[in-house]
Amino acid sequence: NRLSNDFQFIDVGRQDPQKKEARTRAKEFAEIYEPYRPQEAASQAHRCLHCGNPYCEWKCPVHNYIPNWLKLVSEGNILEAAELSHQTNSLPEVCGRVCPQDRLCEGDCTLNDGFGAVTIGSVEKYITDTAFAMGWRPDMSGVTWTDKRVAVIGAGPAGLGCADILARSGVKPIVYDRYPEIGGLLTFGIPEFKLEKHVMERRRAVFEEMGIEFRLNTDIGSDVTIEALLEEYDAVFMGMGTYKYMQGGFPGEDLPGVHKALDYLIANVNHCLGFEKDPADYVSLEGQRVVVLGGGDTAMDCNRTAIRQGAASVTCAYRRDEDNMPGSKREVKNAREEGVDFLFNRQPVAVVGEEQVEGVKVVRTRLGEPDENGRQRPEVVPGSEEILPADAVVIAFGFQPTDIDWLAPNSIAVDERGRIKTSEEAAFAFQTSNEKIFAGGDMVRGSDLVVTAVYEGRQAAEGILDYLGV
Ligand code: FAD
Ligand code: SF4
Repeated sequence: NRLSNDFQFIDVGRQDPQKKEARTRAKEFAEIYEPYRPQEAASQAHRCLHCGNPYCEWKCPVHNYIPNWLKLVSEGNILEAAELSHQTNSLPEVCGRVCPQDRLCEGDCTLNDGFGAVTIGSVEKYITDTAFAMGWRPDMSGVTWTDKRVAVIGAGPAGLGCADILARSGVKPIVYDRYPEIGGLLTFGIPEFKLEKHVMERRRAVFEEMGIEFRLNTDIGSDVTIEALLEEYDAVFMGMGTYKYMQGGFPGEDLPGVHKALDYLIANVNHCLGFEKDPADYVSLEGQRVVVLGGGDTAMDCNRTAIRQGAASVTCAYRRDEDNMPGSKREVKNAREEGVDFLFNRQPVAVVGEEQVEGVKVVRTRLGEPDENGRQRPEVVPGSEEILPADAVVIAFGFQPTDIDWLAPNSIAVDERGRIKTSEEAAFAFQTSNEKIFAGGDMVRGSDLVVTAVYEGRQAAEGILDYLGV
């Protein structure tokens, strides 16, 4: 029996779930990976060595019990695996799809040294998708509801992680979001080819069954004040993300044909989902020569959205080399397969054009001394200017914390970069300088990852429970 073989990893190589052909992918806004079949999931899970010190667990930001649920999957115990994976992660089916596993769990898998890491992310996704299809739901039978109620601002991964722990502890979470659906950037940002929207719709139904209440289309600050929330609830959690667009600061950025990455992606999602309020918001890059500036996940999503819209060409220009790109390596590979051209070591200095974008002026760079974060700084190669012809330019340089005018009057301190401070000296985890308000996710860390936002939301919930004495 093959499954009883502890050296399965020698006989059975790493096998990712099957990917659709690039030609098909490039035409549709649908996930590109097929689901594992049960036997595939079991034999891939069985490749785990159960090494004494599971580095994968340490590297996973939520510290999933990875070898334990891999073993359960290899034995066919999907429901137990789902129960276990939900002990550490509020959105395992999402993380399995969008985590950059190559630099997290799978990057630290012992088998990553020559044999091919265990496909941890794909198995994690398989567990939850399969368990839900079998009718499994989180076990809430042991929960006794208290009379405590907490307002959660933001239905992104941080807010959802927080609400999940609160509900499981008998504290009623009421989650507010200005958008018409839950998910934050999972719904209004990350495109469907990475995460289909029915995944969050199903998760919303599960959360509602667990007792989490959502109040959507509600903006805190204008529709409801923070003061009203502070008065009505026992505590408040803020997981409002970071949405301020970072500009390049070079000439031509406001020419017609230059688009902000997130506005472009959100408009596309709204168009595809039927949430569009004004058709003029939608930007189609069909038939255009597109240059995307940036090298992170957002840039990759813009590249691949433009391909799917039927752009004549898509070129992604990034100022460092490929090894130093911040985006997931898997997504760079997927983008390349779908037809995106990459130009590394190119730094934009201007968008050029008379009435409308005609091109991007770039200079070549080489990597110099490391900066304060240890990343090598790009240095300009003199006399290396060139113009990349373009009809449309998408700028994806990342985000800064949003300016929120109601923070300061409620004694919520921010750091020099505008991120909410949840200091180590606070009495409770992720408490802000207002003792009744807790915060987590991108608005505390700066733009980061889904899994780190989930982790902080969950940790903040633990802080809230301690604060409430539950
Ligand atoms: P968000 O997801 O931003 O959620 C915040 C929520 O708060 C939003 O729903 C917003 O509407 C709501 N809100 C804000 N202000 C108010 C208010 N005043 N009143 C009511 N509601 C409010 N990470 C990965 O791990 N893998 C990826 O592949 C990946 N791809 C990405 C692609 C793109 C295009 C972008 C932009 C990000 C990507 N990320 C990815 C990063 C990831 O999405 C974020 O780190 C994560 O969503 C942060 O979670 P959050 O809960 O802190 O904030
Ligand atoms: Fe890996 Fe992310 Fe899952 Fe952790 S949450 S095991 S890092 S895919």
